[in-house]
Amino acid sequence: MSETIYDLIVIGGGPGGYVAAIRAAQLGMRVACVDKRGALGGTCLNVGCIPSKALLQSSHHYEGAAHEFKAHGVNTGKVELDLKAMMGRKDKVVSELTKGIEFLFKKNKVDYVIGRGSITAAGEVRVKPAKGKAETLKTKNIIIATGSTVTPLPGVVIDEKKIVSSTGALSLTKVPKNLVVVGAGVIGLELGSVWRRLGAHVTVVEFLGTILPGMDADICKQMQRILAKQGLEFRLSSKVAGAKKTKDGVILSVEPAAGGDAETINADVVLVAIGRRPYTDGLGLEGLSVGMERGFITVDDDFQTNVPGVFAIGDVVGGAMLAHKAEEEGIACAEIMAGQAGHVNYAAIPGVVYTRPEVAVLGKTEEQLKKAGVDYIAGKFPFTANSRARCNGEADGLVKILADAGTDRLLGVHIIGPAAGDLIQEAVTVMEFGGSAEDVARTCHAHPGLGEAVKEAAMAVAGRAIHI
Ligand SMILES: Cc1cc2nc3c(=O)[nH]c(=O)nc-3n(C[C@H](O)[C@H](O)[C@H](O)COP(=O)(O)OP(=O)(O)OC[C@H]3O[C@@H](n4cnc5c(N)ncnc54)[C@H](O)[C@@H]3O)c2cc1C
Repeated sequence: MSETIYDLIVIGGGPGGYVAAIRAAQLGMRVACVDKRGALGGTCLNVGCIPSKALLQSSHHYEGAAHEFKAHGVNTGKVELDLKAMMGRKDKVVSELTKGIEFLFKKNKVDYVIGRGSITAAGEVRVKPAKGKAETLKTKNIIIATGSTVTPLPGVVIDEKKIVSSTGALSLTKVPKNLVVVGAGVIGLELGSVWRRLGAHVTVVEFLGTILPGMDADICKQMQRILAKQGLEFRLSSKVAGAKKTKDGVILSVEPAAGGDAETINADVVLVAIGRRPYTDGLGLEGLSVGMERGFITVDDDFQTNVPGVFAIGDVVGGAMLAHKAEEEGIACAEIMAGQAGHVNYAAIPGVVYTRPEVAVLGKTEEQLKKAGVDYIAGKFPFTANSRARCNGEADGLVKILADAGTDRLLGVHIIGPAAGDLIQEAVTVMEFGGSAEDVARTCHAHPGLGEAVKEAAMAVAGRAIHI
């Protein structure tokens, strides 16, 4: 048994866990981070945010070179896809970034322990490496940051070859002729876009009557139109009832969500992207009687579970399953543990879909405001009227700002457009400061800039947009 008594052991080295570990070490704690994967960064760095964005960027270049450069007067000749090189680049980006976290651990004196962690008692973590003997580590506090995994679809068994999860879809060795994506959420649309750009015919099957369920209805409708124009085929209000693997691919049985006759769709590859569920396998939570609800670990405002000294953060506690939300919780949890006033403002967490154009959302949707009986004013500005978007040849989309009718305070900001994921950050800052649409409208924005569309939408709240 190790003699070291840690102040904190974090189980899980994803964006929640590794950030919590570093922040706790900065605050003077003796910290270890246990992860079983063998590479730090969790889902996000290894099989999530980072590899998907690397492929989105590469496939964007491919599509640009093949179909868009000509309009800019750039002739390339025949454009060829080297999928192996594209995947190799993606793997290199991932491996450099995961090694970067190992470096940060060394710099901050966080012990990195590779193996599966389980909690044998409050203050005791048993770590079983892939090979070799298990060891028991002693600690004052534990943070569980074990993240999430793919939600399975009954009757459609993932083999990561013909029927893949997002993980398999990030490493296909050839472009499928027909890809069926089950689920029109963020992951399904991002990865569907990657493979469509590379030449696949992509059909997206969604149980609900809208893509991007939960987002502002206006945004969902416009985005569906834009993606359909790019070639994505949508089967909404449809459910996948079963899948049969054949020598060449998969035959999917799809029926109306409301009931009715099933039809079949042939696919070379099926991507199951119906969501993610919390991952707590083998942690030993039952033995400790840690409170859980629908598989998520229950925590209070200080990320404390019902077991003293055991905390939890990130995807495993639910809420927005996003890397930046997990990071914020990691920092807040470490600071609270150190006696500081750590805090996460869940009302100001942006969400981004990295399609092209991107979608970025913040705060309330119109539907939520109507349901809550809040009196609001909507200001909209299209990118067709933004000079920079026109120069770039990327004028699809709009900025929509929802402000309180009485106080003008920002309630929701929804953007479809070029660099929407970066443009939303201005709105996040203003919302954090309790700012108003007028605050954005009276702030000088550089010209010609995409950010001017945000300013104009804010001006539109007061009925005084200039360029429309
Ligand atoms: C394809 C895809 C794309 C995504 N894109 C984005 C995006 O663009 N932006 C965004 O914000 N979010 C994105 N996400 C979501 C994001 O990856 C997660 O929200 C984020 O990784 C959650 O962080 P976490 O620290 O809670 O858990 P995770 O990142 O899941 O990390 C948990 C870690 O714990 C380890 N672990 C689990 N159990 C044990 C155990 N018993 N012992 C030791 N180690 C254990 C796991 O191996 C894993 O490394 C994406 C997800 C996917 C799948």
